Amino acid sequence: MNEELLKIIEILKTEKTICLLAPSFPVDFSFPEVILDLREIGFTKIVELTYAAKLINYKYIEILKNNPEKQYICPNCPTIVKYIENKYPELKENIIDVASPMVIMARFVKREFGEDYKTIFVGPCFAKKQEAKENSDCVDYAITYKEFCEIYNYLEENNSLKKIEESQENKEIDKFYNDVTKIYPLSGGVAESMLNKQIVSKEEIIVCDGPKNIDVSIKDFKEFKTFRFLDILFCEGGCLGGPGIINKDPIDEKIKKILEYKDRSRYYQPDEKYGKFIHAFALDLKRKK
Ligand code: SF4
Repeated sequence: MNEELLKIIEILKTEKTICLLAPSFPVDFSFPEVILDLREIGFTKIVELTYAAKLINYKYIEILKNNPEKQYICPNCPTIVKYIENKYPELKENIIDVASPMVIMARFVKREFGEDYKTIFVGPCFAKKQEAKENSDCVDYAITYKEFCEIYNYLEENNSLKKIEESQENKEIDKFYNDVTKIYPLSGGVAESMLNKQIVSKEEIIVCDGPKNIDVSIKDFKEFKTFRFLDILFCEGGCLGGPGIINKDPIDEKIKKILEYKDRSRYYQPDEKYGKFIHAFALDLKRKK
């Protein structure tokens, strides 16, 4: 167990914490069991990032609608943002000036629940650790699914898991529920959730995932001004192929798990837990530069 994880264990034991759960979690974990497991390692509250993704989606649509002549690059993948900033600085201005779902959800929950809560992202991505450091005013730590399991096993071996009653309440995420953006971690998921609003057409979007395809897509985007939106993720298969994912199934199997969870969620939308736009009124959505 490395020092960072030991520190997080200490925080989970002694402080109020919020788990920012990435939307790819159904690839590695069963729902609702994982929610109980997260409470057992000590999280006080658990929220999904899908509410932040909904706010972001709305903002992208507004930006594209108000600037029909401009081309935009999706800023959700920190590895891609760094790659473009370093290799294609002339495209820096095309990266949408909206923070990632992790950062926006962290800002939101700190405002909603209190600055005294520590926020810990749990997801598929190593690059989020650096992004968390760059946004340490709202994100305290970022760990991968593999590291979450490491923490769980360590606490189990040491008889230090919290006793959590298997009540309905404990099996659910705490607040700000949303279903539409559950496809965000899929390659092309952002573009798909925007297409419904009819601001951009399929022909105006480039979807790209995997290191092999990045340069070709960026070249096309630069060359053909008819492309208005580049939905680009560094890992092959999008975040479902992230390095912190445990599951080694083919990508189709992973997508199936996300869609099953999304479908199941459609029938479960308790009003009091649903994340509405009004909850995030006047929240800062901009990237830190
Ligand atoms: S595509 Fe990979 S590097 Fe990019 S956010 Fe997803 S997991 Fe992280």
